[in-house]
Amino acid sequence: MTHAHPIQLTTQVADIPGVNDRTAGLLRELGLTNVGKLIAHLPMRHERYETAPAISGIEPESVVSVQGTIDATRMVRAGRKPRFEAVMTDESGRLDLVWFNASYLAKKIHPGHQLRVQGKAKARAGSIQMVNPRFWIIEQDGSEHVDTNTETDAADQPELRPVYSASERIKSAQIARVIETVLDDALAQIDDHLPEVWRDERGLVPLATAYRMMHKPASEDEVGMARRRLAYDELFMLQVGVQIKRRYLRTTLVAPELAWSDEIDRRIRARLPFDLTTHQNAALRDVVADLTTTVPANRLVQGDVGSGKTVVALYAMLMAVASGHQAALMAPTSILAEQHLSSISSILTSSDVRVELLTGAVSTAERESILLRLVNGEIDILIGTHALLTEDVRFKSLALAVIDEQHRFGVEQRASLRTGSTVDTDTSHKSTPHVLVMTATPIPRTLTISLLGDLDVSTIEGLPPGRKPVETRVFPSTQRERVYEKVRERIDAGELVYVVAPTIDSTDDMGGVRDIAKWLENGPLHDVRVAVMHGQLKQATRDAVMERFRQGEIKCLVATTVIEVGVDVPQACVMVIEYGERFGLSQLHQLRGRVGRGSAASACWLIADPTTPEAHLRLDAIRTISDGFALAEKDFEIRGPGEMFGTRQSGKLPFRVADLAKDHELLRQARRDAIIWVEHSPALDKPGDALLVRRLGKMWGDTLGLVDVG
Ligand code: ADP
Ligand code: MG
Repeated sequence: MTHAHPIQLTTQVADIPGVNDRTAGLLRELGLTNVGKLIAHLPMRHERYETAPAISGIEPESVVSVQGTIDATRMVRAGRKPRFEAVMTDESGRLDLVWFNASYLAKKIHPGHQLRVQGKAKARAGSIQMVNPRFWIIEQDGSEHVDTNTETDAADQPELRPVYSASERIKSAQIARVIETVLDDALAQIDDHLPEVWRDERGLVPLATAYRMMHKPASEDEVGMARRRLAYDELFMLQVGVQIKRRYLRTTLVAPELAWSDEIDRRIRARLPFDLTTHQNAALRDVVADLTTTVPANRLVQGDVGSGKTVVALYAMLMAVASGHQAALMAPTSILAEQHLSSISSILTSSDVRVELLTGAVSTAERESILLRLVNGEIDILIGTHALLTEDVRFKSLALAVIDEQHRFGVEQRASLRTGSTVDTDTSHKSTPHVLVMTATPIPRTLTISLLGDLDVSTIEGLPPGRKPVETRVFPSTQRERVYEKVRERIDAGELVYVVAPTIDSTDDMGGVRDIAKWLENGPLHDVRVAVMHGQLKQATRDAVMERFRQGEIKCLVATTVIEVGVDVPQACVMVIEYGERFGLSQLHQLRGRVGRGSAASACWLIADPTTPEAHLRLDAIRTISDGFALAEKDFEIRGPGEMFGTRQSGKLPFRVADLAKDHELLRQARRDAIIWVEHSPALDKPGDALLVRRLGKMWGDTLGLVDVG
């Protein structure tokens, strides 16, 4: 085909030869305005024509490709449409072929020819028939010649046809035809932002080749290779952006350099009530390495529920204090903040470290006193909730901010903590605290890397010594009485029990915390101290109830998910979860993490009547999987990325090809590569970076502060 004007990536669809105004309009409705957009419109999938080994094996209604010998042919001119018919056979059977409006075939296909045909098989009056199949004449030497005139022909490959997302009025096949028209010209203009050696070392095909393999694959392998390259690009660009941002943070902001010595280490450890596990020590080494430099730390310490993250955070906070600075610890709920206060205070009794609690429940007078002492440097460690993020909280010298259970905080809040406490110094650098984020892996590893890619990650594997796995069982609500008989036995044996329900008040189809507590008090637990715990109780009441439960005075605590995160009562060994089908998987895992914190054998019994397939999957997962990482991956699998990325986590995913549920290895590779690239060319101004910069601009907008070199 020759064009009056050569096809460019910027050529408008209306200017593509053979595309009429109507088609151009329909393409534009799909956002396919120019050639570049068309090429970037990747097939959703590829249709594979199964190759039938023999004619007798063809199933009616299947789309297949099959080979045979032509026995007879004839032109039929009766009726409205002339048709060309042929009979094809092999050792196993006979296939009738019919082409309408194709009289030219009489000159092409002759008895004795070896033919490969491809199309939809239909059962007709005792025989199998194909109407308007695509065909290839097979020469003596085995080479195949496709018939380029056949109407249905969209690509010259027999095996795979691209299927494009289309609209009511324009079909995938039409889009395929247009793409086919421009493909070669377009590919010739696609430059690669990755150098050849870089690609070769990683087994990546050139970009233009990847697009060719997507639109016109010769085999499934090619589709795989194309996907890999395009997915790599998406992940790599994301990671390069992350690295650039991270560099900015590291080069323009400074954090206090904290002192560390064997003596400091010895003094801190002497305060801790137990020896740290190997994994806690490993995480701690990362943290110490971070804090002893002026580069602001941005580290995620992740570990399963109960893995012992708090003590690592406490160690880091004590380092800040040892250097004469302050530290802040933010928890997602006030219950958790108070618990941190009580455990940290008890560890620090008889030390001169000054710890205070600032939550929304603190009185105005008390709050003012705290703020004043804080800015005067008379408080060393401030524990609190989001309230710590408000404008008027000013530290004298905040060296470290610890954010516990990060999944409860939005990314913006994390950012605001940093800016809120950032102060200008006399140099061009701004001073900012080190940031340590603790999480019980609410999100799978893969997501952590991509979403929180600006964080370093330390993982505390396993649990502290002496823990036994929590026996998890699921009961239908018809066995509720039986479950509470067992609860009764455990309480009689001196144990404490949590009962969790989704809501405070009952609804039409479900009991709430208040009614369940009443029912228990009047029934199975009539002579036992039962109390309720939920977000509507006053702070002081909650504290008192929690304390009485901890002391064992209250034996059964009926609660909402306010106890989900971090609550630590080692004597509580049994948890009943009512309406288990209503909870999310990570929530169930967090809840279950409240028991099994002591050394006694503990149990989590779910009462659930699942009605959806997802609910069944969730309950199966919680019953059979105890590892938090594995559960997070499972959750991701069940829910898919869309929901995981919900509103708060990140905004939208810039991926079209990459699949975070599957491309773990590629993501890791892309991350390593991005680090290498940015180390080599921190400002992305080396020759050969221009194209990458331009493409990064498309993905990241101007948030990277890179100069657009056009
Ligand atoms: P999480 O990681 O879920 O925040 P915590 O820090 O609350 O876990 O620790 C869970 C429990 O394990 C706490 O009761 C804590 O005192 C205990 N713990 C933590 N580290 C150790 C250890 N090295 N040896 C024994 N017990 C530990
Ligand atoms: Mg914790």
